[in-house]
Amino acid sequence: MSDCIFCKIANGDIPTEFLYSDENVVAFRDLNPQAPVHVLVIPKKHYASASAVEDDSVWSNLMSSAVKIAKQLELDKNGYRMVINTGEQGGQSVPHLHLHLLAGRNLGWPPG
Ligand code: 5GP
Ligand code: ZN
Repeated sequence: MSDCIFCKIANGDIPTEFLYSDENVVAFRDLNPQAPVHVLVIPKKHYASASAVEDDSVWSNLMSSAVKIAKQLELDKNGYRMVINTGEQGGQSVPHLHLHLLAGRNLGWPPG
């Protein structure tokens, strides 16, 4: 997807510091953080949303990477939240699948 901002981040067209990178996934800090720690974990391959994923390995790669990053950042001590906004009412604004990893404060529930 040549006009997708997260594809450009994943393939290096937009220089970005990665907190984590492997053959399937990259992670970087959110531009507009909603918590003291706000990391985005994305598949390198473009999927417009969670609903577009057809291969279960995408989920195992994404989730296991997010948990690994949380441990690396020692977020498991006090806890963290993983969120995947999907579609318009789900609050998705960037149409490339991404998992939000949020931590560093008490996170409210239910979400807005
Ligand atoms: P969504 O609203 O789709 O669930 O989340 C998209 C997230 O991407 C938002 O939290 C927004 O701040 C973040 N974002 C949008 N554009 C960029 C960008 O160019 N760089 C980074 N690091 N984050 C971005
Ligand atoms: Zn993309």
